Parts: sequence; C-alpha cells; structure tokens
Amino acid sequence: MKVIKFGGSSLATGPQLAKVLDIIAADPTRRVVVVSAPGKRFKGDIKVTDLLGQLAQAVIAGADVTASVDAIIARYADITADFGMPDTIVGHLRQHLLQMTRQSYLNLDYLTATFMAQGEFMNARLVAAVMRHRGVNARFVDPKALGMVVSGRPRAANIAPDSYARIAEFNLAPDETIIVPGFFAYDRAGHIATFARGGSDITGSILARGLGAELYENFTDVSSVYAADPRIVAHPRAIKTLTYREMRELAYAGFTVFNDEAIIPMSQANIPVNVKNTNEPAARGTIIAPTKNVNHHHHITGVAAKHNFVALYLHRYLINAQVGFTLRLLRIFEQYGVSYEHMPSGIDDLTVIIDKAQLGAGIKEALTDDITRKLHPDHLEWLDDIAILMVVGEGLYAKPTIIAQIMGCLADIGIAPSILNQGASRISLMLGVPADRAADAVRAIYALSETHPHP
Ligand code: ASP
Repeated sequence: MKVIKFGGSSLATGPQLAKVLDIIAADPTRRVVVVSAPGKRFKGDIKVTDLLGQLAQAVIAGADVTASVDAIIARYADITADFGMPDTIVGHLRQHLLQMTRQSYLNLDYLTATFMAQGEFMNARLVAAVMRHRGVNARFVDPKALGMVVSGRPRAANIAPDSYARIAEFNLAPDETIIVPGFFAYDRAGHIATFARGGSDITGSILARGLGAELYENFTDVSSVYAADPRIVAHPRAIKTLTYREMRELAYAGFTVFNDEAIIPMSQANIPVNVKNTNEPAARGTIIAPTKNVNHHHHITGVAAKHNFVALYLHRYLINAQVGFTLRLLRIFEQYGVSYEHMPSGIDDLTVIIDKAQLGAGIKEALTDDITRKLHPDHLEWLDDIAILMVVGEGLYAKPTIIAQIMGCLADIGIAPSILNQGASRISLMLGVPADRAADAVRAIYALSETHPHP
C-alpha cells in the first residue's frame, strides 16, 4: 500500500484535479490520499490557505465576512463545475465555513489555525465527492478518525507519538481509497491545530509510518529535487536519490519541495519517499531513502541558501572557563520564547543565529538589555541580514580538502563567510554570508560541485 500526497498546485483547478485522479487510478496500491488546499493557479494568485488567513483576520476584527467567504468558496465551485457536479456540495462547504465564523475559540491562535485548516478539510471533502461522482469507492476520513493527536503550539503542532499505534489500527476496507486532509489534526482537548506551513507533507509522512506503507509518494509541481534552486542556478543537476538527512538539511535551508519535518517519520520507519510531478507523472522523480541505499556521484549533493537570519555575537574573555555561561544565556532566550538555529562558539566568543521571524517588536532590545545586565559581555553586537548557506552531501567527508575549496571559490568572488560550522554528522557545512551575496555564493559552490564527481 502506498500513501500519496498532492500539493496545492496539483489541486488548484479542475484540470489539475483531473490529472490527480488519473494518477490515483493508475496504481491500485495508491489507497491513502492526502490533499493540500487548492494552491496558486498562476503567478501572483493567492493560495486558499492564505485567503483563509485573511478570513480569520476579518473574523477577529469583527468585519463583514461574506465577500471573503464567497471568494474562498468560488475556488471550490470552479473545480466542481469542471466535473459537472451539482451545486449541493459547494453549498454545504459554504454553510460549513459560515458556521465556523460564528463559533468561539480558545484564543486567536486557535481561531487562526482552525480557519487555515479548512482549506484542506473542504478540499478532502470535495475530492472524495468528485471521485464518488466518477464511480470510485472513495471516502473522506478526518485525522481524528485515524487517531492522529497533536500537541504544542496551535499553528506549529507536533504529532503525539502515541498516535502511531492508533493509526496502525485503522481499518482500510478492501478496494476503498481514503482521502485525508493534510496540514492539521486535533489536540487532546479536541481543538484543531495545524503543523507548520507546508505541513500536508507531514500528514502524509505520519500516515505512511503509522499505516506501514511501502512507499510515500509526494506529488508536487517539479520533476525532481535539484542540486540548487533553479531560480538561482540555470538548469541545475536533478538529484536521483538522496538520503533522509541530506533532504532534511536541504529542506530546512530552503528546498521547499519537501517539508523538513516530514522527513522524521520516514527515517524513523525507513520508508522511502518518491517526490514526483503531477504534470509529468511518468518522470521518475527523486527518491529519498536510507543512507545504505543511496549511491552518490558527487561529493556535494546540493547547496541551498536560507534568508532572514540575524546573529548575536558575544565576546567575553574566558567563556570557555565559565561554568553555566551558555545555560544562563539560553535561559534569557527561553524567557522571551526564542529558540536558536546554530550556535558556533570559541574560547572567548559565541554567536547565536536566530530566525528573524522570532524577534517580534522590542524583543531584540529586551534581549540586549538582559544579556548585558546578567552576563556582562565585553562586546555584544547584532549582525543583521545574514543568509545561511548549507552545503550538503554524504560524500563531503570523503574529500577532506573540500572545505578549503569552498572557501577558495568564495574568496575568488570576494565573499568571506562570517560563520563556518560543520555538524558532527559531517554531511553538511553551514556558512554565514551577507544576504545580498547569497545567490552568488550558491552559484559558485554549485559550479564547484559539478567539477567534483565522486570517483
Ligand atoms: N495549505 C497549507 C499551506 O499552504 C499546507 C500545505 O499546503 O502543505 O501551508
């Protein structure tokens, strides 16, 4: 049995949904289908999830929601019209959404999460109805009925580990296909919570693990994972296979084709993932698999740049000799609900790299005050506009001179990384570079990777 997930662009219009239905029908083992909300139809279009975010804002503001609800429902109506279906299903969806605007919620975060989840909820209902209309034995199944329980923040929830045992008990009737909405589940109190954005991949991954699927197929709108972002490097190398941890590092650093958190259940259960293209289903796509099953032809598998970081640089003599210095620093971060991405350190220095999204109004100033008062650094400085470059490859360790070559090729174009960090796993190298030079750095390192095929 395979779990198969379709992203928003694969479900954005009637013709796209028609391709999806053909793909499902082409393989009878594709029995568990996870769907995203309808995505962008063209450049500049707005995803249904974002329209729902706007609707949530309107509800919070107490504004009139009719136009907003109608705009969302029109996206679904367009799709059903293409399949010659009666208006009843769209009418039900409209009632459902209006009903949501009248409910009360625990707090604004739960309210927003509940609205944003409706894109997937309504789409799974619609896809199941379209399939039944075409004579397929398809059934909508809610995450609750599968035993998925989440905890943590309402808009960045995590799966509760005991969910897997319940999912394994789920009874999939012979010859039926189930359609499950991605992106959200319920917490123990029954409130809707969503995963992080792009989280339908996570639902698919959780179900593949829980149900013991032989393969998790993730259909999107590109034919492969590429060694570099095609918007930065023209015609980059397509990666045929890569390991879970390589994908996780690259996904974290901006390869949005597969969600970084979605790798975790797959690597825990050793289930391969096949990233494929709805618009070119015959192409083999990219396989993400355990390390032992992957043969690399390049030392550098991929290079990615991630923007929107700041670094806090602290200097104080003898940091290395002070028991608990980092602990006290992290306590201050904890107090403001800030987590860090990387923390390279030396005997007298420490740099903490933080995602800018975490620094709401006034937090940077408050952190500066607290740290100055409690830790007395000799020097404290915020480095703004840093991009993080991740150079990833299981083959990196086999070529000890690669770091020198990377630094050399960056020096050739006048880039001196302010931070360099190699993880203990030795499959990735993190470099902090000025944000406005990140694309140049990616191009240079990609060019280097092409001159280094594995022996
Ligand atoms: N619809 C959600 C989002 O836009 C989840 C997903 O598409 O995976 O983030």
